[in-house]
Amino acid sequence: MDRRFRISTPAHVAHVMGVLHANGFQALLVGGCVRDSILGRQPNDWDVITDAVPDQIQSLFDKTVAVGAAFGTVVVCTPEPVEVTTFRRDADYLDKRRPSGVFFSSSVHEDLARRDFTMNAIAWDFVSERLIDPYDGLSDLRKGIIRAVGDPRARFNEDALRLLRAVRFACELDFDLANETWEAAESAAHLVEYLSNERIRDELIRILASPDPGRGLWMLYELGILMRVIPELRGSDRLPQGKPNAPTLLDHLIQTVAMCPDDPLLRLAALLHDVGKLHTRDMTETGQVIFHRHEVESARIAEEVLRRLRFDTRSVERVVSLIRHHMAHGPVTRKNIRRWLSAYDEQWVRQVMALRHADHLASGGSHAPWLDLALTKLETVLSEGGALHLKDLCLNGDDVMRILNTPPGPIVGYVLKGLLQLVLDDSVPNTREALLPHIPRLAAEFSRIEQGRADSHAQATPPKPRQNDD
Ligand code: ATP
Ligand code: MG
Repeated sequence: MDRRFRISTPAHVAHVMGVLHANGFQALLVGGCVRDSILGRQPNDWDVITDAVPDQIQSLFDKTVAVGAAFGTVVVCTPEPVEVTTFRRDADYLDKRRPSGVFFSSSVHEDLARRDFTMNAIAWDFVSERLIDPYDGLSDLRKGIIRAVGDPRARFNEDALRLLRAVRFACELDFDLANETWEAAESAAHLVEYLSNERIRDELIRILASPDPGRGLWMLYELGILMRVIPELRGSDRLPQGKPNAPTLLDHLIQTVAMCPDDPLLRLAALLHDVGKLHTRDMTETGQVIFHRHEVESARIAEEVLRRLRFDTRSVERVVSLIRHHMAHGPVTRKNIRRWLSAYDEQWVRQVMALRHADHLASGGSHAPWLDLALTKLETVLSEGGALHLKDLCLNGDDVMRILNTPPGPIVGYVLKGLLQLVLDDSVPNTREALLPHIPRLAAEFSRIEQGRADSHAQATPPKPRQNDD
């Protein structure tokens, strides 16, 4: 079915399509850019499809890069890069992840048939300004429905990533899955075990970054996907939480995510912040349920989850440290803020406060005044521009070595760190006169610690057998 529609295409994309057309080839927009244009949203990227094969595409433009020649994708380097892909038909899917090969095709209809959802299988012909919409994606778009192209069971069986994409689109666009697509997704949920961790990570992050991450997580749960991609959450849907609005731990975790600002890593920390409760549940003599040091256990588990999902080291450290510090819900002191700024950065401080506040809200609390107070303190500390790092101190390593009359060594770092702590705690001003008297004391402290270490080492080490001097 063809329908008239106008997409305002960026000039560089229109140029590429114009050149293809002038040389007798078809050139159409497809996928996300058509979908988002119909919805009045800003497209993420512009995908052009054509019946020209990669060699032909390359011969028409000065600068091109064949990024996936085997798959028929050529990037045309206009001022901004444009991806141009030859119409294709997928060979059979053998590993539930990707086709065993692709065949170039001269039919846009064949190309649209391999796409995941009806709303993503609409092409736009810029010459006739018509939509090519064989699966009635337009009507699904208008109704807010995500429907697999063709037989949903077969489509999820071919590529299990489509399960996660369906949920991601649902919470990005506030759409629902068509009934038969939902049922097929439920019965295909086990196939996510075939997916690479990187692909799971990328979709999970997009679900967490969406306007309604709570809904996305519940969809993943109900479809039977959540506990497969994060098995560490298993049991959280049965662990009573004793909170009036959150009967189980999973309720509490997902509510905490939903209360966080739009920051996917923070929301990931929220999702895992209490996962350690599954292993630390205990009871006091008076019969009170406690989860002793669950934040430490949660941080440990979160590290395992994030490493498995191939998050970069910085993201792992961030999520783990946020979870480790999520516990206190109450006034934040200037001293805390200065120490945190020293150990982490301003963004981390804002994130940890947001996590604590989200946890408080998800535990049934109302907006807490301590958050506003803490944010005001943060602004003040930042505007004061006080010392936060060793380099900001009025004394440096040379000063310490000169005063102690010692060569470079671990004692110098120890003394400098000790001085920084004094300044961070507001106990000593950051001036040479104020800091100098503390140097000998810190040096003595270092020597005592070293001596203690040496003594316990000597005790722990059995005496060496006597050498035979004969
Ligand atoms: P966005 O760019 O916002 O993530 P998109 O729909 O453009 O959304 P892309 O991953 O850029 O998603 O893919 C472009 C198009 O390729 C999709 O619209 C869809 O037609 C098709 N597509 C992508 N991934 C798959 C898949 N796993 N199975 C089938 N078709 C897919
Ligand atoms: Mg896209």
